[in-house]
Amino acid sequence: MAKLYFRYGTVGSAKTLNLLAVAHNYRQQGKSIVLLKPALDDRFGKESIKSRAGLEMSADILVSAATDLLAISWEGVNCILVDEAQFFSAKHIEQLRELTLSQGIPVICYGLRTDFRGHLFEGSMRLMELADSIEEVKATCHYCNRKSIMNIRHVNGVPTLDGPSVLLGAEEAYFPVCYPCYQSELKAAQMASQTI
Ligand SMILES: [Zn+2]
Repeated sequence: MAKLYFRYGTVGSAKTLNLLAVAHNYRQQGKSIVLLKPALDDRFGKESIKSRAGLEMSADILVSAATDLLAISWEGVNCILVDEAQFFSAKHIEQLRELTLSQGIPVICYGLRTDFRGHLFEGSMRLMELADSIEEVKATCHYCNRKSIMNIRHVNGVPTLDGPSVLLGAEEAYFPVCYPCYQSELKAAQMASQTI
């Protein structure tokens, strides 16, 4: 039976590098893979799947709300790889689950577990519920040597829990952090803002 895999991690955990390595191995063996990513993730250009280490491949399908994954012909496909799976809807995760059964194709999804507020993304939640295999791709905390489990958001260099997911005109960045650092950094930023 083909399986559904969820490989999750924080930002900076080499998830995309891991995906590109798996894709490369399949292709070297002459096998056919299809790369999916959400249409909304265009950090590196619309179709590009690019790791921070600089490796890059093109996505074969950009999945938007209107995409019906069950209407696509998957004949001859040996594996489906998904980048930034946290942004997929629950419906699309369910369709991928269905493909493992109806088409016998393994699906490997990579993504963040939670957002900068510490809540599950929709796609990640459905993957936690439906995946055969759930594995952590590890990274070290930005501030100490513990394992990161949270993503902290900086806007103009300051840790924050506030704001919409996209801030125009502000410089924002995300860092992998352990839970103690997540709490202490946010608390320190909050106290600093109150003394101004
Ligand atoms: Zn830490």
